[in-house]
Amino acid sequence: MDVVQLVTEVRRQVGAARRAGKRIGLLPTLGALHTGHARLMEQAAAGCDYLVVSIFVNPLQFGPHEDYQRYPRQLAADVAICREKGVALVFAPEPAEMYPEASYTYVEVERLTAGLCGASRPGHFRGVTTVVAKLFNIVQPDVAYFGQKDAQQVAVVQRMVQDLNFPLTIAVLPTVRAEDGLALSSRNAYLSPAERQAAPVLFKALTAARELVAAGERSAANLRAALRQILQSEPLSRVDYAEVVDAGTLEPVELVKGRVLVALAVYIGRTRLIDNIVLET
Ligand code: AMP
Repeated sequence: MDVVQLVTEVRRQVGAARRAGKRIGLLPTLGALHTGHARLMEQAAAGCDYLVVSIFVNPLQFGPHEDYQRYPRQLAADVAICREKGVALVFAPEPAEMYPEASYTYVEVERLTAGLCGASRPGHFRGVTTVVAKLFNIVQPDVAYFGQKDAQQVAVVQRMVQDLNFPLTIAVLPTVRAEDGLALSSRNAYLSPAERQAAPVLFKALTAARELVAAGERSAANLRAALRQILQSEPLSRVDYAEVVDAGTLEPVELVKGRVLVALAVYIGRTRLIDNIVLET
């Protein structure tokens, strides 16, 4: 497994693999890899012949007051995980390799980015879609892997692929959780022991929503209220949003019908965590 920093080197190595008839997979990450990423890598490596993992803390997707500077960076440990999981190539560019000069060009998906994290993090999805489009053009994968944990990101990237005719398939892999239900995330590393104990309240709220719907609740307003009540019962939490939206359009719904996404963004102390489940009725 090679670790490369240059676009030309990715092109050379992936080009050789493609000419050898290999199916190319790409798993984009910000690094600080955890068991969730590792599980994704196992599934991804099983679904293609040559898996590229990108490790890049993309400055474009962080707001001016967000955690770009302090986002955990641990390339040596990340590379060891990739090696163990059957990754063929790690692309770990410096910011100057991805953005050698001021950008003139951005990729922006409208409407799907208006609500949820798009509302709380202006410019975030523009940063995501721009870097993902660049990675798609650099690696030219047959299949790209994304985690359901970032449900809005999945919807936005799928829409970009459709609207811009990227010749690849998006594979969505299920959310990997700790035993107490907390979705694994690089940002969990920011949590103090007390905050870590409080953090499963997101999963608790999602589970309660699932149970309410299973018991016949169909009012999205009632579900939102139930979510908030549970989240607010945790003193260390502050709700950013607790939403019930159509899983396709990401627009708020009044009735739980068809596929709905129950999506949360909650501050635990100073750390903003997200989680979601899809309910089908
Ligand atoms: P990140 O490095 O946080 O940008 O994550 C890279 C990819 O891994 C994204 O597609 C995430 O959705 C996915 N991912 C991160 N954490 C999890 C998790 N706990 N379960 C499933 N996918 C995840």
